[in-house]
Amino acid sequence: MSLRGTTFLESVLQTLKRAIELGGYPEEVYEILSRPQRIITVNIPVRMDNGKIQVFTGYRVQHNNALGPYKGGIRFHPEVTLEEDIALATVMTFKNSLNGLPYGGGKGAIAVDPKKLSKKELEELSRGYARALAPFIGPEVDIPAPDVGTDPQIMAWMVDEYSKISGHNVPGVFTAKPVILWGNPVREYSTGFGVAVWAREAAKKLWGGIEGKTVAIQGFGNVGYWGAYWLEKMGAKVVAVTDSKGGVYNPNGLKLADVKAVKDKTGTVMNYDASGTRKITNDEVLELPVDILVPAALENVIHRGNANNIKAKLIVEGANGPTTADAEKTLHSKGVWILPDLAANAGGVVMSYLEWVENLQWYFWDEEETRNRLERILLDTFNRVMNRWSKLGTSQVTIREAAYVEAVDRIYNAMKVRGWI
Ligand code: NAD
Repeated sequence: MSLRGTTFLESVLQTLKRAIELGGYPEEVYEILSRPQRIITVNIPVRMDNGKIQVFTGYRVQHNNALGPYKGGIRFHPEVTLEEDIALATVMTFKNSLNGLPYGGGKGAIAVDPKKLSKKELEELSRGYARALAPFIGPEVDIPAPDVGTDPQIMAWMVDEYSKISGHNVPGVFTAKPVILWGNPVREYSTGFGVAVWAREAAKKLWGGIEGKTVAIQGFGNVGYWGAYWLEKMGAKVVAVTDSKGGVYNPNGLKLADVKAVKDKTGTVMNYDASGTRKITNDEVLELPVDILVPAALENVIHRGNANNIKAKLIVEGANGPTTADAEKTLHSKGVWILPDLAANAGGVVMSYLEWVENLQWYFWDEEETRNRLERILLDTFNRVMNRWSKLGTSQVTIREAAYVEAVDRIYNAMKVRGWI
């Protein structure tokens, strides 16, 4: 059993246990939610370019469907384990519930490094996975989407394979598809947009608004870049961004479009050079004198060792799991607000829900209408989490704990009226 997967699963279950205590729910809720309803293991043979067959093992974990069909991404990564997949599926149950979506949680994985496959091999593997899972997924059953190592092209192959098996087009079985194949243009920036909306709403409560507030962002990929883009549009001042090589800092604000152009051309923001701008490391970016910090790259980057050096009053978790439990305790006691991942980075899955709704009705909203719908759902979640937090006591309970209680509440009530408990 992988230590990485076990530790992650254990920490998810600890948070669940605490939420059940805080919300006063019966023990049985833990008994049910601490294990997935179904685990599917598939072995997929792929004819490799060298003529030999290689068999890849994949999983789909269907954690809980009290609120609706299972929903969650598919991860292609050499180090994924079944235990990690279970943890990720469990988190999806809470994330979907928290955001008011009519979904349970699921997650899929294949232990493979997609960068080591040719395009043909990757297509074969993706189609093989969709074929193997076809009896267990579907628009009313389980709706996968991309995660680490998978993308809209892979979703296109999978939806095509599933449609061939069904004998007709079934757009609603996978989300985050290319726009031409029943996707939605908002999906590309939806997670970063959600990060910015959550930051803006929290800033209103903390300071009366986000205008002029300084922001440092670790990670300048999909979430980091689009988060920066929308934060700037909302009036914040992005002063630092980094990628895996390091980054740049200008206390007077960065010209984001120029930084992005340098990143696209040279592969890293480190090559951006403008007067008043200096290079920083990925450790420094977390400790800058800014109002808002957005970790949007890796897990466990805010930990016991640096929590006391963090100067931001507001941390918005763009990445999954960037803050360790120890660090969260320290920062919470200092009055720092941490907007937790299952809320702050949920823009992507909420957008996936809207794409699915479009697909079921074969009717598509324009970009602005879609974004407005997305924002309305995010604001509703924000308000519910804040209410729950203030009811539970902001000094005794973290925002993450309040979010988990809010998430468990819907699942508990659904299981109760169904007669499961
Ligand atoms: P991405 O691959 O597009 O970008 C990741 C960024 O992190 C890149 O800029 C990369 O250079 C940088 N990075 C890598 N190693 C780093 C390091 N050691 N230090 C600093 N930066 C480093 O990935 P993404 O889609 O933006 O995802 C980022 C995080 O957000 C992940 O935790 C992911 O699970 C989470 N997330 C993404 C989405 C989504 O819709 N893309 C949704 C929810 C959560």
